[in-house]
Amino acid sequence: KGNQKNILITGGAGFIGSHVVRRFVENYQDYHIFNLDALTYAGNLENLKDIEHHNNYTFIKGDITNDDFLTNLFSENEFDGVIHLAAESHVDRSISDPLSFVKTNVLGTVNLLNQSVKMAKKNPDFRFYHVSTDEVYGALGDTGFFTESTPYSPNSPYSASKASSDHFVRAYGETYGLPFVVSNCSNNYGPNHFPEKLIPLFINNIINNKPLPVYGDGNYTRDWLYVKDHARAIDLVFHEGINGETYNIGGFNEWKNIDLVRLLCKLMDKKLGRKEGASEELIAFVKDRPGHDLRYAIDATKINKELGWSPSVTFEQGLELTIEWYFENKEWLEHVTSGDYKEYYKKQYQ
Ligand code: NAD
Repeated sequence: KGNQKNILITGGAGFIGSHVVRRFVENYQDYHIFNLDALTYAGNLENLKDIEHHNNYTFIKGDITNDDFLTNLFSENEFDGVIHLAAESHVDRSISDPLSFVKTNVLGTVNLLNQSVKMAKKNPDFRFYHVSTDEVYGALGDTGFFTESTPYSPNSPYSASKASSDHFVRAYGETYGLPFVVSNCSNNYGPNHFPEKLIPLFINNIINNKPLPVYGDGNYTRDWLYVKDHARAIDLVFHEGINGETYNIGGFNEWKNIDLVRLLCKLMDKKLGRKEGASEELIAFVKDRPGHDLRYAIDATKINKELGWSPSVTFEQGLELTIEWYFENKEWLEHVTSGDYKEYYKKQYQ
């Protein structure tokens, strides 16, 4: 492999992972990027169509819960770093099927850690990076922010599984001396977002004149970050973060769900040439999600001060870019909503 560095990115066919893979493939010609993904319902190689033929990129279909598969992969390749994003990621699914979250997010992460400990012994420059969520901190009241020292207090099976994997990463650092970094990020939005999540779901529903289901009274507050700004932060933390440290990533951009939906409706009315207020008529309040956290808000001072990161777009700009992307990629949306995207892998890779 000469001077080339091999970087393994897990979950690279997913929403955030695809932006990270693209960024690394395009910006680091001296890296070879291995994208390991099981292609669950959330993994979609159409997200990476534009870079799939780059010669510093390889896609590997595989499941991180399969230890034999990982053992082979790590014995056949020497990696300089693992950026771990593969996960079950949807809170509502974790409520109906918690065990699949334990399997992928906890067991899968521990499998990767076991391989990484061996790799770190062979390669002193090796680093393991766990991409995690701010949901591990639980919920906030009307005031305050999550900092890196906020105690963990996860409320959903999803956040409990991510909290658990964060703890394992830290423990492997303490116990086996594994060099690691962790980042905990707020809600992402942007291109390639699977339309089960709020923003793409609502863009799709507004286009199709379907109801916009808002949980409870709509007063839940989330801190939103444009996905490409998250990918940029991941790049920085991977390269410049200090081993053993955690970095919170967020946009200082809190929105009550109902205000966000109203803003989205306004931008969509403009885009679709509908009269102002037309899309808002689609809003329908629905029964609350159990264990729903009232408010998340990230204090991103540390990554700002220590690594010089801050978001590059405002929420309005990011939302407009996102809406634009969904309009320009109607085929992607149709394939994802009809399940046809699964055919893409078969055609391209089998
Ligand atoms: P996603 O669901 O879009 O993508 C997850 C990817 O992991 C998919 O491509 C899927 O095929 C793959 N995967 C799932 N199980 C696997 C397994 N057993 N083996 C190999 N691959 C598997 O998720 P996302 O929104 O892109 O999130 C990526 C990571 O970032 C997750 O770890 C998530 O916890 C974290 N995160 C997400 C957000 C957010 O707002 N989406 C915010 C903070 C942190």
